[in-house]
Amino acid sequence: MGFADKLKALFRRSTLDDEAYEDLADLLVEGDIGAAFAYELVESLKKKCRQEKISDMDGARRALKSLLLPYARSKQLELNEGKLNIVMLLGVNGVGKTTSCAKLAYWASKQLHSNKVILAAGDTFRAAAVDQLKIHGQRLGIRVVAQGQGADAAAVLWDSIEAANADGAHLLVVDTAGRMHTRQDLIKELEKMNRIVAQKAPEACYSKILVLDGTTGQNGMRQAEIFNTAVSLDGVILSKYDSTAKGGMILSLAKEYNLATMFLGTGEGYDDFEVFSPSKFLDELLGI
Ligand code: GDP
Repeated sequence: MGFADKLKALFRRSTLDDEAYEDLADLLVEGDIGAAFAYELVESLKKKCRQEKISDMDGARRALKSLLLPYARSKQLELNEGKLNIVMLLGVNGVGKTTSCAKLAYWASKQLHSNKVILAAGDTFRAAAVDQLKIHGQRLGIRVVAQGQGADAAAVLWDSIEAANADGAHLLVVDTAGRMHTRQDLIKELEKMNRIVAQKAPEACYSKILVLDGTTGQNGMRQAEIFNTAVSLDGVILSKYDSTAKGGMILSLAKEYNLATMFLGTGEGYDDFEVFSPSKFLDELLGI
């Protein structure tokens, strides 16, 4: 039985006794909510149910939703119609960065009612990333600015901003290299990127989004910690949400690092990309 089904089964029990509370805490840990946070939540739920004289399971489930709501933080990607928007996706190898670049470019071109979108193949480190992005660009009819594998990512960014300025583009989505950085390397690389944006596109609306793989649990939390302390992140894309159905990591990200979720990746197709909705997410999580 998957996590969501187990949670639903728990709320089908007849009473919320101590055993049910304990099982709930275990389940929340299993759902990628950190252990300390899970126990804290269960204690808050007990207190709330006692104070509000909630004894039925449905009431308890709704009470839990209200306790989780502050941690289901969402944030809209800021897209300014009158300016060039630059969105840089960060994250380690394999999390779904390149795929998310294509999905985001496709989604935003619909939002902006504009095909003046450019993809920048800034992951010059992973062997197949440049070609992969070019294929996405061909399929979507979106221009891709690239140099060869091993090229300087900063030079690709430079070229892509020049192309965006020349085309009067509305959006530039930048893929980046995903090697596991040390904090110092990451800061240096990002500072270089920031300087190029400041120099070439000082008026641009510039966002940095971390892509995390929803199936990696605590590993994802560690990545969030490294990137978040090195870079001021605007939000998170949680990819592969279709393969996990857990997603408790979203709540931990908000609690631990004050990070908001912007999008969920829900499959391998271009349309498998959703704006994160806290209430819908919690209803799915709790089986409401
Ligand atoms: P990168 O190394 O971070 O650029 O990762 P890729 O974009 O190459 O993605 C790694 C793998 O994850 C690929 O096989 C993608 O098709 C797959 N992938 C990416 N996003 C999703 C998603 O939301 N759902 C599923 N099921 N697979 C995904």
